[in-house]
Amino acid sequence: MASWDSIESIAAAVQSGSTTALEQVERALRAIEEGKEYQAIISTISDRAIEQAKMIDARIVAGEKVGSLAGVPFIAKDNFLTFGSETTAASNMLRGFKAPYQSTAINRLEAAGAICVAKANLDAFAHGSSTENSDYMTTKNPVNPAHVPGGSSGGSAAAVVLGMAPFALGTDTGGSIRLPASFCGTVGLKPSYGIVSRSGVVAMASSTDCIGPLANSVADAQLVLSVMAGRDELDSTTIESDIKTTVSEVNPSQLKVGVVKEFMTKDVDSEVRKAVQAKVDALKSNGVQVVEVSLPSLTLALACYYVLVPAEISSNLSRYDGQRFEHIAADAKDLEDSYVSARSEGFGREAKRRIMIGTYVLSSGYYDAYYKRAQLVRTKIIKEFEAAFEKVDALVGPVAPAPAFKLGDNVSDPMQMYLGDVMTVGASLAGIPAISIPAGKNESGLPIGLQIMAGRVQDNELLALAKYTEGVPS
Ligand code: GLN
Repeated sequence: MASWDSIESIAAAVQSGSTTALEQVERALRAIEEGKEYQAIISTISDRAIEQAKMIDARIVAGEKVGSLAGVPFIAKDNFLTFGSETTAASNMLRGFKAPYQSTAINRLEAAGAICVAKANLDAFAHGSSTENSDYMTTKNPVNPAHVPGGSSGGSAAAVVLGMAPFALGTDTGGSIRLPASFCGTVGLKPSYGIVSRSGVVAMASSTDCIGPLANSVADAQLVLSVMAGRDELDSTTIESDIKTTVSEVNPSQLKVGVVKEFMTKDVDSEVRKAVQAKVDALKSNGVQVVEVSLPSLTLALACYYVLVPAEISSNLSRYDGQRFEHIAADAKDLEDSYVSARSEGFGREAKRRIMIGTYVLSSGYYDAYYKRAQLVRTKIIKEFEAAFEKVDALVGPVAPAPAFKLGDNVSDPMQMYLGDVMTVGASLAGIPAISIPAGKNESGLPIGLQIMAGRVQDNELLALAKYTEGVPS
C-alpha cells in the first residue's frame, strides 16, 4: 500500500523529467495487479494509458508544458464513459458496452495530462451503499477485508487507499462518494450540484447526481475538482464556477461551525460520535466558534430521497430496453417480449426494486401522495439549509451512523441498507457541497469520517475549512 506523493508533486516531477508519465502509469498498473484480491477494479485501460503516457513524455522531451496533472494516473468508477475499456456500471445490462464518447470530466482531466488507468467497481447503476449490489464482484474494505468498503463508489475508495492511483473519480447521488470515503479512510468530495458536468456518466437520479474525487488529501481533491469544474454545453445544468486550484487559508477565529443536532443522537454509534466530537473540540480549541444547529426536516430526508430518487431512476433506466444498449434478449418472440426479457435478464434485484417503487410513486393516483409531497419536503430541506447557512459557515457531523459493516450483513435487508444513508442524502437533495475527511478509527481499527457541508456553490470555502480540519492539532 505504498502511498503516492501529492498530485501537484507528481505532476511537477513528471514535468521536470525526474520521473516519467510512463513510470507513473506502470506503478499504478502494478499496484492494481497486486491488490487484485480486494476486487476494487472491473477493468484496466493499460494499452491506452501507456500510449498516452508515452505521448506526454515525448512532449516533455520536446520542451512543451503539459498541464497541471501531467502524467498523474487515476481510476474512474465504471459508470463514467471511457475509451479503451468497457463501461458497465457494474450491471449485466451493460456488459460488453463500449462507449462511443467519453465523459466531459475525463476529457478535461486528460486535457490537463492525467491518465485514466482503470475502471472501479460499484453497486450496479450506483444503487447501493456497499458494492454488494455489483453484478460482477464485491469489493472488500482495504482496512479490514471482512467488511464492506461502502458504496456505491466502493471500488474507487478502496483503490485510493490501496495506492492504486493518487485519486479516483466517483459519483454521489445520495452519499456514494462520502460514504465509501468514510468507510475506507480517505477524502471524498461531493461538489455542489452543477459544478461538474454529468455528460457521459451513466445517469442515476439526474437532479442529485454529482461527480467528484476520492483522494489522499483535501488539497488533491481541490486540484482535481478545479480541472473538472465549469460550464459544459453538453450538460445544461452545469454552472460557471470559480474553483481554485489550491486550497485557501482560513482564519479560525472568523469561522462559525454548526454541529448538526439530529446527527449526534444516541442512535449513532458512540465511537462515531466520539471521533466527530474530538474534531469539533479541536476546532473549538483553535478558536473556531462552534454552535449546535437543529435541522428538523433532515429526519425526513431519507424518506424523501427514497421516493424522489427511485422516481428519477425509473425514468432514466427506461432507456435500457434491449434495443439500443448492450443487453439484448437472445430468443425474443416479438418486440414486446424482447423488451421484457432484456430488462428482466439485464437488471438486478435492486434496479428492479427501484424501478417498481419509482413507477408506483409517479403513477396517477399516487403521484400527489408520494412524489409531489416528497418534492415539497425537498423544498423544506433546502430552505432549512439556507437558513442554517445564514447563521454558520459550515455544518459538521458524521457521514454515517456507524463504521463499515460486515460483508453480507445488510444484503437481504434493503431497508437496513437504506438507513445507512440517513446522514448523506440531505446535502444531495439540497445540491450543496459536502465532504468526508478521515477523523480517526474505532477500537477495531475501522475508519470514521467527518462530514462537512457548506452553502450552495461555497465549494472553495468548504475545501478551505476541510483542509484546516484535516490538519487541526487536537
Ligand atoms: N446509497 C444511496 C442509494 O443507494 C446513494 C447512492 C449514490 O449516491 N449513488 O441510493
